[in-house]
Amino acid sequence: MIPNEVQAALVALGYSVAVDGNIGPKTREAIKDFQKRHDLKVDGHAGPLTIARLHEALAAAKPAPAIPEPGDIVPAQWMPAGRLERVICHWTAGQHRASDLDRSHYHILIEGQGGLVRGDSPISANGIGGTGKRASHTLNCNTGSIGVSLCCMAGAKEQPFDPGKAPMTAVQWERLVRVVADLCRRYGIPVTPRTVLSHAEVQANLGIKQRGKWDFTRLAFAPSVKGAKACGDLLRAGVSASLAA
Ligand SMILES: [Zn+2]
Repeated sequence: MIPNEVQAALVALGYSVAVDGNIGPKTREAIKDFQKRHDLKVDGHAGPLTIARLHEALAAAKPAPAIPEPGDIVPAQWMPAGRLERVICHWTAGQHRASDLDRSHYHILIEGQGGLVRGDSPISANGIGGTGKRASHTLNCNTGSIGVSLCCMAGAKEQPFDPGKAPMTAVQWERLVRVVADLCRRYGIPVTPRTVLSHAEVQANLGIKQRGKWDFTRLAFAPSVKGAKACGDLLRAGVSASLAA
């Protein structure tokens, strides 16, 4: 692989690096992260072993899953028993497809067309007293927290708002509402601003400091909804309605 191809492969796997043929610090960091995840020597150089693994990872990149039928949409085996207290909703700041990186950070991903993808960590690992590798999705707030993320908003800007090339879709939002409703039903989570919320609300609603997270303060498909509370209220209204239906 020439440098361009290495960078293109990294982008396809969810890393945000420029495809310019220049292996700079950002590309090296991405290579290092990929090497770490794939048990390779972490040196930031795309040597033969790393390139072989990149080819494998690209080949293994999954086809888009089919959109589930109406009704309960989260498969029962994705919701193992555990003590979970809240659902925190995010976007990946990536493309419309779930990447390796996305799967390592969240329990459930919702792709641009609405397909659901299961993350690497089971929800039970984030449960209170849970064991196994936890999904790390919210700074200092992962215990008891389920992380759901919409695959979207790569390159988006908050001010002035620019949703970028992979804007959040209305289909993703509809799916999110139903996924969160399934999770609330399964784990007995009430729909309140402290238990069903977006990442952008964590600091205000739970008092846990985050670093400038704005998922969600804007909804690309509904430009009139502005601010973390307005987005969160819309989410909770949808989930409550879905639970009551
Ligand atoms: Zn987030």
